[in-house]
Amino acid sequence: MRAGRSGCPGTSCASPASWWTQRPVGTPVPYPSPVHEHPSDLIVVGAGAAGLFAALTAAGAGATVTLVSARPLAETASYWAQGGMAAALAPDDAPALHLRDTVTAGRGLVRRSAAAVLCDEAPARFTDLEALGVHFDGDGRGGVALGLEGGHGVRRVVHAGGSATGRRILRELAARVRERPAIAVLEDRRGAGLVQDAEGRVHGLACDDGRILRARAVVLATGGAAALWSRTTNPPGSFGSGLMLARAAGADLADLEFVQFHPTAVVGVPGREGFLVSEAVRGEGATLHDKHGERFVDELLPRDAVARAIHRLLAETGDAAVYLDMTGVDPDRFPTIVESLRAAGVDPATTRVPVAPASHYMMGGAVSDLDGRTTVAGLYAVGECACTGLHGANRLASNSLAECFVFGRRAALAALDEPPPGPPLTPTAAATEPAPPPSRAVREAMWRHAGLERDAAGLRPLLGAEHPLARLVAACALHREETRGAHARADFPALDPRLDERHTIVAAGSEAPSFARWT
Ligand SMILES: Cc1cc2nc3c(=O)[nH]c(=O)nc-3n(C[C@H](O)[C@H](O)[C@H](O)COP(=O)(O)OP(=O)(O)OC[C@H]3O[C@@H](n4cnc5c(N)ncnc54)[C@H](O)[C@@H]3O)c2cc1C
Repeated sequence: MRAGRSGCPGTSCASPASWWTQRPVGTPVPYPSPVHEHPSDLIVVGAGAAGLFAALTAAGAGATVTLVSARPLAETASYWAQGGMAAALAPDDAPALHLRDTVTAGRGLVRRSAAAVLCDEAPARFTDLEALGVHFDGDGRGGVALGLEGGHGVRRVVHAGGSATGRRILRELAARVRERPAIAVLEDRRGAGLVQDAEGRVHGLACDDGRILRARAVVLATGGAAALWSRTTNPPGSFGSGLMLARAAGADLADLEFVQFHPTAVVGVPGREGFLVSEAVRGEGATLHDKHGERFVDELLPRDAVARAIHRLLAETGDAAVYLDMTGVDPDRFPTIVESLRAAGVDPATTRVPVAPASHYMMGGAVSDLDGRTTVAGLYAVGECACTGLHGANRLASNSLAECFVFGRRAALAALDEPPPGPPLTPTAAATEPAPPPSRAVREAMWRHAGLERDAAGLRPLLGAEHPLARLVAACALHREETRGAHARADFPALDPRLDERHTIVAAGSEAPSFARWT
């Protein structure tokens, strides 16, 4: 797998050889051919936190796995994760308290059953990660250090290497995958279409190189879609290709209007545009200021509230940035962030950092149950491409890595109970071309009209956007005539209590959303 691109912003992740396969760049990828003659138990699409963990879980249960990954490891959102992973580990914490904070952040839309699974099982997945070789930062007294982040009532966020959490976790998981002969890795290959039998059950994946893979089931772990917006913290591959695969196979999507905008992405620093300064920095005391040096928001509010406060201030003043004061924060706590900023000429130990919101995380995705099952038999979705409803209208910081491990494991185990594949099948029509990335024009239109504050006049023209997912996001955002969590309608500024627990569903074959109640 190729190592870092220029867009691994501000980190030193680029290296001449990949530590994923430990092979020099350009060496052909070894893989038995033809693949379709060797069906595996499970196909996992995507090698971020969710995909790697799902593959390891299945292999640990004795299954064979084919892991397909379109992009290098350093181009996954997981690799870029800085803040950490939430789990109720402290003596004064409990899954019920974690659940309470998750529900509060989600603004009346959290599916409690899914959030309860997350909060109950996150501590056990933390233990699994340690067993897999991840070294989480210690507290100096033999325990694990627990950070505080916005929206959390107690310290419950674990880190590895300070702000290098995603990188450290992925490196270990990739090493464990490499050691497992039961996991065959197809690198630099894109899933282009799902293969279904006569009943519509998914039994395989068509890749962009023409290979047809077969298995009991397919787990999509293809990440989010925040790169549909022009100003983003995400790698460019996060444009929702897995959602389009799922939809083409007949799966329902949900809650696409709920896209989280991170409050503090670097702006106006060449080479670091969109570089994320983690929430954890504010948890450790960093403060936000306008250009006159005045504080204007409680920095520990949930991120939608902080992002919108910045957005409104910038809209009122016409300024391009607000300023994050990290001068009181120990630089050793966040070495990756500090190094990256210093390398770009901004020393956060002495200088306030210019920041503004950027699209960051999609709460919506492929409708999936507590075991990751989508609405199509044999097809599972985990990680950011899934929508269990656990995040509701606003994800609580550091819940997404936890989600990757909790639901990655559950889906991998459930998928192994699916029936084995029958004889080789051909992909359904039009399912062999990978989904196209959004154009620059689409991404800019999404930023302008489907951004932190939307209204009907801006959203309607997006219904004709050339990119299918952009059209669906606009349709969902138009359908929800209220302001809730990450979804703010300037023309409907109040929360509508009648829409509590009502999720926005886009059924297969339709671009007209409807509401469904999930509990
Ligand atoms: C800068 C940044 C910081 C973050 N910090 C945190 C944090 O501190 N804590 C936290 O909990 N969350 C954080 N998040 C969010 C979190 O990192 C992501 O939600 C999570 O890592 C998503 O993991 P994933 O496995 O679902 O997807 P990803 O890690 O994005 O991986 C997706 C994989 O799918 C592959 N893929 C996509 N389409 C295809 C296809 N068609 N065929 C084959 N492969 C495909 C990609 O190449 C990639 O391998 C952060 C996100 C960003 C961008």
